[in-house]
Amino acid sequence: MALKLMPLPYSHDALEPAMSAETLKTHHGKHHAKYVKTANELIAGTNYEDMSLDEIVRAAHANGDRKLFNNAAQIWNHDLFWNSMTPNSGKPPKALADAIDRSFGSMSAFSDEFIAKGEAHFGSGWVWLIASGSKLSIDDTHDAENPLVAGKTPILVCDVWEHAYYLDTKNDRRAFLAGFMKQMVNWEHAARLFAGNSPASQTSNDSLRSAAE
Ligand code: FE
Repeated sequence: MALKLMPLPYSHDALEPAMSAETLKTHHGKHHAKYVKTANELIAGTNYEDMSLDEIVRAAHANGDRKLFNNAAQIWNHDLFWNSMTPNSGKPPKALADAIDRSFGSMSAFSDEFIAKGEAHFGSGWVWLIASGSKLSIDDTHDAENPLVAGKTPILVCDVWEHAYYLDTKNDRRAFLAGFMKQMVNWEHAARLFAGNSPASQTSNDSLRSAAE
């Protein structure tokens, strides 16, 4: 059973001008697609083949299968990233907005902290909003690392690899993060994960795989 490239939940130009169609096309169609292709080559004929994406990520991490972990985790991370964005951003629903106020003081303090964390991250990686019960925190991880393997529950993620923004804002990662926070966040999706719904991969990659069987 092969892993699938999750279709984007919007058109390539839906996030313009904050994220260009060219960036989205290359990021999804080349970078993300390559992780799917490589992971499928690595799991073929192994015990990993019958696992869900979540299980592959956790097992490859635990087993020290670094190449498979890197490629499978990058699929998981990108699935959540595409679901973390929408052309109709708006504001967080009340329960999530209240949790943001309780955890960070205010929406603008949260936004500043998220942007600062992503800007300060050295090299390739990800910046995450993590839920632990009703408490929220911001975390960053390097390369393909993700909070899943640490037993944490991410509800929102922004990709801070250069391929996510370099065509649009060149070396200005802060401008990309500011655009993400201002125009692109899918608060409805984050609120659903906050309320305890399935992680992104279970509503995207794993359902794609079972639908294909
Ligand atoms: Fe990426």
